[in-house]
Amino acid sequence: MNATAVSLQQVTVLGATGSIGSSTLDVIRQHPDRYQVFALTAHSRIAELKALCIEHQPRFAVVNDALAAQRLQSELRLAGVATQVLAGAQALCDVAAHPDVDAVMAAIVGAAGLPSAMAAVTAGKKILLANKETLVMSGALFMRAVHEHGAQLLPIDSEHNAIFQCLPCNYSEGLAPVGVRRILLTASGGPFRNSSYADLERVTPAQACAHPNWSMGQKISVDSATMMNKGLELIEACWLFAARPEQVEVVIHPQSVIHSLVDYVDGSVLAQLGNPDMRTPIAHAMAWPERIDSGVAPLDLCALARMDFFAPDLQRFACLRLAIEAAQAGGSAPIVLNAANEVAVAAFLRGDIRFTQIPQLIEDILGLDVVNQVQSLQEVLAVDQQARQQANSWLAKQKIHVGVSS
Ligand code: NDP
Ligand code: MG
Repeated sequence: MNATAVSLQQVTVLGATGSIGSSTLDVIRQHPDRYQVFALTAHSRIAELKALCIEHQPRFAVVNDALAAQRLQSELRLAGVATQVLAGAQALCDVAAHPDVDAVMAAIVGAAGLPSAMAAVTAGKKILLANKETLVMSGALFMRAVHEHGAQLLPIDSEHNAIFQCLPCNYSEGLAPVGVRRILLTASGGPFRNSSYADLERVTPAQACAHPNWSMGQKISVDSATMMNKGLELIEACWLFAARPEQVEVVIHPQSVIHSLVDYVDGSVLAQLGNPDMRTPIAHAMAWPERIDSGVAPLDLCALARMDFFAPDLQRFACLRLAIEAAQAGGSAPIVLNAANEVAVAAFLRGDIRFTQIPQLIEDILGLDVVNQVQSLQEVLAVDQQARQQANSWLAKQKIHVGVSS
């Protein structure tokens, strides 16, 4: 190994208390000779962040609330930890763009993760992108910023990481020049793959969050159950791999062992396989172009015995249909789709709407959008805010309606 390979990389983990954040820290923990934690960020789980600061001794920790930051700062001082605690959205951007940072794991959930991911890119960092909502909302701007600022973008989403591994390195000009016919994006189908529409109407938040193969945060778990996750991933794939929506085909593969495939014009189909554990794509992206141990058990094909594949049902899983339509419409449509989905998922988790009302809300809000091209981050955030307001009005009307009829 040469000197560069062993020099310590300074890593900022945005969303350190989440599912991806903790898998990232698990990989970092296994390679103290390669990675050092520079900054950790959290939102509501302050006690968990404190424990992580005591363990990893980062230079900075960031939380949203100023009072919580003050409290954490004094607790860390008492514990003899030198970490400086910062507060607010700008601080997330600052620790992502800090000159001493080499790599940034963007693992905040939802639209809240966009500004800090963009800050890492405009500072020319190596960005490990888990937050798919960033690309759904601002794909064109984000990809342009990656090229303009010489950032290195590595996909963490397991499907996109798989596709990245199956493509040649010069894929960024588009799929046709490198002989790719289509991308096959695999989906587990979630916990309700075989449920009838009548069953879907009665789904509870706890059932929706119990994914058969992956252990993930609540929002992405609900997205997987509605298959909105696959829709967001289709849009994500279009931006990452310069693909048109019709070049990305969704295939249900319940075992989640093939993480996605690339179909070449000569008939070769390349796939990446592995146990469903996010530490594999995280370790791949962190060490790329080298390979490091992730702690994931080797794949046992004989124990797996079989792999199944099905076409998705766009009627029962209307969220996937809506995402494909938004991808085709382009412009502001994916921003509206994402915002309405975030509001709908939060309402479902609070018990305010039924599972089957998630796509209804999104479809109604998408129907209000006059698809516009979006030229700046400010415009993206304005479309996002407007769609959230419309979605909240939809929910308020729904409550009145339920109140009157019950
Ligand atoms: P979690 O809900 O487990 O974690 C989310 C993280 O973001 C937490 O650290 C949370 O802090 C923080 N956070 C939440 N809201 C805010 C906010 N408003 N401002 C700042 N920080 C905030 O989510 P996941 O780890 O499951 O997912 C993270 C991202 O990665 C998502 O975009 C998801 O789609 C993507 N992804 C996840 C996969 C997975 O296997 N989990 C797979 C592929 C992609 P706190 O916990 O302290 O409140
Ligand atoms: Mg995925």
